[in-house]
Amino acid sequence: MALRFYNTLTQRVEEFAPLEDNLVRMYSCGPTVWNYAHIGNLRTFTFVDLLRRWLQARGYRLDHVMNLTDVDDRIIQQAMAAGQTLEEYTSVYTQAFLDDCRTLRLERPEHLVPATAHIEDMAEAIRRLGEKGYTYQSDGSIYFRIASFPGYGKLSHTDFSGIRAGVRVDSDRYEKSDARDFALWKAPKPGEPSWDTVIGPGRPGWHIECSVMAMKYLGETLDIHAGGVDLTFPHHENEIAQSEALTGKPFARFWLHSEHLILESQTMSKSLGNFYTLRDLLERGYEPEAVRYLLASVPYRKKLTFTFDSLRSAAGAIERLRSYKLRLETGKFPAGTSEALLERTLAAVRRFEESLDDDLNTAEALGAVFEYVRDSNSAMDAGEFRAGNSAAALELLARFDAIFDVLTTTANQGGLSDAQIEARIAERNQARQANNFTRADQVRQELAEAGVILEDTREGTRWKRR
Ligand SMILES: [Zn+2]
Repeated sequence: MALRFYNTLTQRVEEFAPLEDNLVRMYSCGPTVWNYAHIGNLRTFTFVDLLRRWLQARGYRLDHVMNLTDVDDRIIQQAMAAGQTLEEYTSVYTQAFLDDCRTLRLERPEHLVPATAHIEDMAEAIRRLGEKGYTYQSDGSIYFRIASFPGYGKLSHTDFSGIRAGVRVDSDRYEKSDARDFALWKAPKPGEPSWDTVIGPGRPGWHIECSVMAMKYLGETLDIHAGGVDLTFPHHENEIAQSEALTGKPFARFWLHSEHLILESQTMSKSLGNFYTLRDLLERGYEPEAVRYLLASVPYRKKLTFTFDSLRSAAGAIERLRSYKLRLETGKFPAGTSEALLERTLAAVRRFEESLDDDLNTAEALGAVFEYVRDSNSAMDAGEFRAGNSAAALELLARFDAIFDVLTTTANQGGLSDAQIEARIAERNQARQANNFTRADQVRQELAEAGVILEDTREGTRWKRR
């Protein structure tokens, strides 16, 4: 079966192929850098990462754009309250977002673009929309007239014909019941940042930035547009209206939306604020891989209920896989190959791949891996697993980890390997035997800085990672 995705636009699961050769042109809505991302936001970004990785595993090249919303109502409000410029205020949260992405091993899009670097492009797009008769002005702001775009509502599958009354909404975020003509450009207000452009002074609304930056880098029709389900209306509906009004062409062929993450209980959200950031979880001692695994393990179109139990299970699941990998790498198995087991390994790989082809069904894909690991461990216990079975089993784990990326511990990443640590310990022992304690202490200190703790015992030097 071919690769297929559920397309919000058609409300059907459809076979996916890019318009052009094997290049996938993809846009996903990025963060508003007004605060730390919470794990609900990070679920969406993890979904986009899985999507990227699976498309690449299936042989596609990617041209992926993600925006950084670094000007909007909330940012302006917070920056003004803090007595900072927009840039001073947003740079902190932009960096925090990039750090979170690195911690969660999210691949960086080919283009990561801040809205404020594209204000002129947005003003020009709004000018052209005006020329085509899709806009009107009021008190220095410019609005998109939704009654002039007959397809309005086609993504959220809502009939808005009854409420196209020319009533306006200035807020960037609003409910379906408030569907109104929305602001493309906001008039300058005293004390607020504004830009001088071809359409006069002011600042862009939120929706126009995605349309403009997507088409600037990817052309008029994208293969995939992805984002959180809460963006379907109004944000993505407005993106379609603006883009298609400009070009007369379909804006995106596939619309993929990831579901919400919900918290385990009302009580917990009350006592701790109603969300967690990645930092909150890491401070409690959870590994980033466990967070990544948990966010990835529930298929993206299902709601994910976050609990600390599920985070602990995620850590346990990773541990089982790591132990199995270690057993594969260090176990002594009888010579030869079990053909029956080899066939089961290949079947597990097929099921893993077919599951991800099926609209990224990560739960089913993980099921295939864990069933195989159980089977394989039993085969090892029973002596059925042969030396010749290792390569295929390691290949299965490699394919798994190319997508899920949880087998290497963060503590090891960029740090010293076990062999390197052992070598340094041997060097230190030599120095001690030669009574060169300065050198010995220096090695201990360097290892400590690399996060390795030494303990000298009668049996020799033991070590562990911090
Ligand atoms: Zn967007």
